[in-house]
Amino acid sequence: MNTIVSTYNLSKYFNGICRVNEVNLTVYEGDIYGFLGPNGAGKSTTLKMLLGLIKPTKGNMVIFSKNFNKNRQLILSQTGSLIESPSYYEHLTGLENMRILQRLRNVSNKKVQEALHIVRLEKQQNKLVKHYSLGMKQRLGIAMALINFPKLLILDEPTNGLDPNGIREIRELIKSLPQRYGITVLISTHLLSEIEQIATSVGIINDGNLLFQGSMEQLKAKNKAYISIKTQDNNLAKKILLTEGYKFKQNNDRLIFEDLTDSHIAYLNKLFIGQSIDVIRIEEHRKSLEDIFLELTGKERSL
Ligand code: ADP
Repeated sequence: MNTIVSTYNLSKYFNGICRVNEVNLTVYEGDIYGFLGPNGAGKSTTLKMLLGLIKPTKGNMVIFSKNFNKNRQLILSQTGSLIESPSYYEHLTGLENMRILQRLRNVSNKKVQEALHIVRLEKQQNKLVKHYSLGMKQRLGIAMALINFPKLLILDEPTNGLDPNGIREIRELIKSLPQRYGITVLISTHLLSEIEQIATSVGIINDGNLLFQGSMEQLKAKNKAYISIKTQDNNLAKKILLTEGYKFKQNNDRLIFEDLTDSHIAYLNKLFIGQSIDVIRIEEHRKSLEDIFLELTGKERSL
């Protein structure tokens, strides 16, 4: 797998306070890399460093296998971005806005139309931007970022402020980019649900520290199931379990087991009944991705 972005101990201090702390990001070619973290975690600051908009206090960045500082212009010419609100002229049409950028970037009419097509604005391209909905404005911002079909697209919270329909549209269009156009996407968000639906890789940041990085499968593998059993005589049940050599914990009136196979569950059930202990509940619990995220970040359930 080719690596598109690598950062090495990337750090940023503002007024002596560390806001991005020795972050080592790895984004592979063809990834939709979800950069997830609560507000204020350091996502935008990291992305701005990758775009050369702010200078790292420490650390290195390698993009397209090239040192960022030495190849800044080349790297940025192959990178598209939408960071904070898109900058467009409200009194011009969508197409006119694209034309301005077309001249600056020296790209063909075909690419302009194709970018408008991807974001599904072809039909509204001659409307004034001030008459666009928020979702359409955001899609225009993405079309502008896509105008020269960059190798890397960096999007900072692209669905902020959109309604569910707008969110779905942006999600669908982002999903299509790696396969159809060979574009690697790095997208930040504070919404786990968004990442869950589109990302192939995930980086979780909190208070400037990268707490997890890996594939979506690796993140999901953290949500192992556990079994809880409630009996009418837990004290006796515990004695039996200890003599049988089972590992368990107690949580209120439940006995909690990790990694119990189906046959072990059936065996325990028989054992308890054989000892005249009524089994009241046997339940499987699975941590949600949200639980994992909250455990990692130590945040309240407010996301
Ligand atoms: P996120 O994008 O994850 O919401 P940010 O990267 O925007 O977080 O911000 C991370 C922290 O850095 C926040 O505490 C923010 O207030 C602070 N910060 C960001 N930019 C500046 C700046 N230019 N000057 C001082 N502090 C800043």
